[in-house]
Amino acid sequence: MDSQAREQLIRAVAATIIQHSEELTALDQAIGDGDHGLNLKRGFEAVTAELPGLAEKPWPDLLKAAGMAMVMKVGGASGPLFGTFFMELGKTVGGEPDRTAVIAAFAKAVEAVKARGRSEAGQKTLLDVLVPVQAALAAGADAATLKAEAIAAADRTVPMQAIRGRASFLGERSVGHMDPGARSSSLIIATVADELNKQGLMS
Ligand code: ADP
Ligand code: MG
Repeated sequence: MDSQAREQLIRAVAATIIQHSEELTALDQAIGDGDHGLNLKRGFEAVTAELPGLAEKPWPDLLKAAGMAMVMKVGGASGPLFGTFFMELGKTVGGEPDRTAVIAAFAKAVEAVKARGRSEAGQKTLLDVLVPVQAALAAGADAATLKAEAIAAADRTVPMQAIRGRASFLGERSVGHMDPGARSSSLIIATVADELNKQGLMS
């Protein structure tokens, strides 16, 4: 992947999040404090403001910088979690990642998010998307399958009761709504899968 391709990928992810920020806000209004759409929009605007220079960096530096921007600009509970994910990915993925390297780095990044959030899958959080996507990736899923799994995994948070994060304060009243962080994670993963497929890097 050259720097132009990396820039296109980052811009595509940012555009998706910005387009869906009202939907994410509405989801967070139902079971949180209504800031998730705005939080992520601010984060991705900060990341795109660093383009094209950011995309000229090799993957480890790029992911570290993007992760730090997420921590500093997104805020809330999700900023440090997304930031941890990207920074940890950057630590392990290497400069010219192939599928094997991405699978290993993704697994480590998911573990880092679990440690940071003191959370695991099944608690109605972004991990309910990251964990099944990691499994699909490791099982050799193609781009369309990964995208479908990410979207379906976010849908599966609807009947769950939140055990972590602000939504857990609602107890049983958190049931019946999609988790905002799961939805935003699914949008990011779906866009990355689409872009990698478009760029001929993933079948
Ligand atoms: P805040 O909850 O501080 O307002 P956001 O609204 O930006 O932050 O993000 C909320 C999302 O963060 C939730 O939908 C959930 O997916 C995720 N989240 C919150 N706490 C945790 C945690 N401990 N572990 C994993 N994910 C979490
Ligand atoms: Mg919130």
